[in-house]
Amino acid sequence: MENECIFCRIVAGEVPSDVVYQDKDCLAFRDIAPQAPTHLLIIPKGHIASLAELSEGQQELAGRLIIIAKNLAEKEGLAAKGYRLVVNCGYEGGQVVPHLHLHLIGGRKLGAKLG
Ligand code: AMP
Repeated sequence: MENECIFCRIVAGEVPSDVVYQDKDCLAFRDIAPQAPTHLLIIPKGHIASLAELSEGQQELAGRLIIIAKNLAEKEGLAAKGYRLVVNCGYEGGQVVPHLHLHLIGGRKLGAKLG
């Protein structure tokens, strides 16, 4: 755990969050400032600073995060109409929290523009 990392502190239970799913390696919770009716964050429990830090040996974890997102989209009732999965990476990618996370966003028609 990284002491200064807000998402590590959520994993440790030191910062409250609205958890929607967890297993031994991954956690998902509601974004504190939702951009759409459903806005979830899916993260690895271990500290990985960004997508750029993900290694070849972490393919299973990467796949797991995507499958969790897909399952949560179904659970949240988003699957029929569609949704968006976003990973911001680094400064120009708009990443603010330096702990790898997938945004699952849906529940309204999203704009076509990505950036
Ligand atoms: P990013 O810009 O990709 O780094 O996104 C970080 C996201 O984390 C933003 O959507 C924030 O609203 C969200 N966030 C920051 N702190 C918290 C928190 N304590 N609980 C839930 N979501 C958070």
